[in-house]
Amino acid sequence: MKLLLEKTKEEVNYMPKNLENAIKVTDGNMQKVMDALSEGKTVICALEKGPMVEQTLASGFSEYMNAHYELLEEGGDYGVCGCGKPANILVAA
Ligand SMILES: [Zn+2]
Repeated sequence: MKLLLEKTKEEVNYMPKNLENAIKVTDGNMQKVMDALSEGKTVICALEKGPMVEQTLASGFSEYMNAHYELLEEGGDYGVCGCGKPANILVAA
């Protein structure tokens, strides 16, 4: 088993999601999302499901976050998206 620091970015991105220890960001603070991702942490992030997000969910990779992400939950009121709109989905990155 490789230590996290020895892993390439590719390997880190493909790690199984560790949702129990995930950082949850529901206030639109994308800097916090980026910081947590760069530390190799799993992030649960509230987003508004607009065209960009739909595209990212379809491809499974966020260019913006430079991370793989997947839909966790939708249809609720999860807080605020990074753009300031009400968030209607939760994703894990
Ligand atoms: Zn948004």
